[in-house]
Amino acid sequence: MNDPRSALVLFSGGQDSTTCLAWALNRYAHVETIGFDYGQRHLIELECRLTVRAQLHAQFPQWRDKLGDDHLLDLSLLGQISDTALTQARAIEMNANGLPNTFVPGRNLLFFTFAATLAYRRGLSVLVGGMCETDFSGYPDCRDNTLKAMQVALSLGMDTPMTIATPLMWLDKAQTWALGAELGGDALTKLIVEHTHSCYLGERSKRHEWGYGCGQCPACTLRSRGYVAWRSNGAEPFPDTEVGDSLG
Ligand code: ZN
Repeated sequence: MNDPRSALVLFSGGQDSTTCLAWALNRYAHVETIGFDYGQRHLIELECRLTVRAQLHAQFPQWRDKLGDDHLLDLSLLGQISDTALTQARAIEMNANGLPNTFVPGRNLLFFTFAATLAYRRGLSVLVGGMCETDFSGYPDCRDNTLKAMQVALSLGMDTPMTIATPLMWLDKAQTWALGAELGGDALTKLIVEHTHSCYLGERSKRHEWGYGCGQCPACTLRSRGYVAWRSNGAEPFPDTEVGDSLG
């Protein structure tokens, strides 16, 4: 698959955005990444994203020349104005409106707006995000219709076509693991397990079969359940060999 357009991937260093980055590298001519520092408690992801990029570059020669610059934006403003369990030290719980208090209102709307501003300058016309409304916490700014409306607003407001691509939108977590394996084989699965970070609490001292995390928070629960479901669908566990061995 070769799409001549250039893409900007919203890349947090988690499983979903790493899978999206591999998906974009497989498809588009040139791919850059953008990350946001917004005072998240799981700041560890910001370190993971550099490791993941370096590993992708080292292990996947077919993607190496397509992987362009990384951009990290300081959005500490978002942490200052929102009062949530992702940005403040407090317990994760459900709010009265049915949304967990990890919801940062407007986060993805802001992310896409800043991403589009950067994409405009860099000549990139596809914005890729790992949002999903199949296996998710109910965040309204992850929904397909929200992002379609965002695509229209950005394209009109910038008077240039801006496509928002969300390859994971209709996949559950087991299918996201499967997509990673399809795109990059055992080497990519192993990279995702070892180097990506999803845990809301930033916990990296405990290593599970599916990666690092507290094992209890909503992000860990989704990730581990998806992994178990994917494995039980008949996939062979990847051999515990040195990274790169399966690259033939
Ligand atoms: Zn966790």
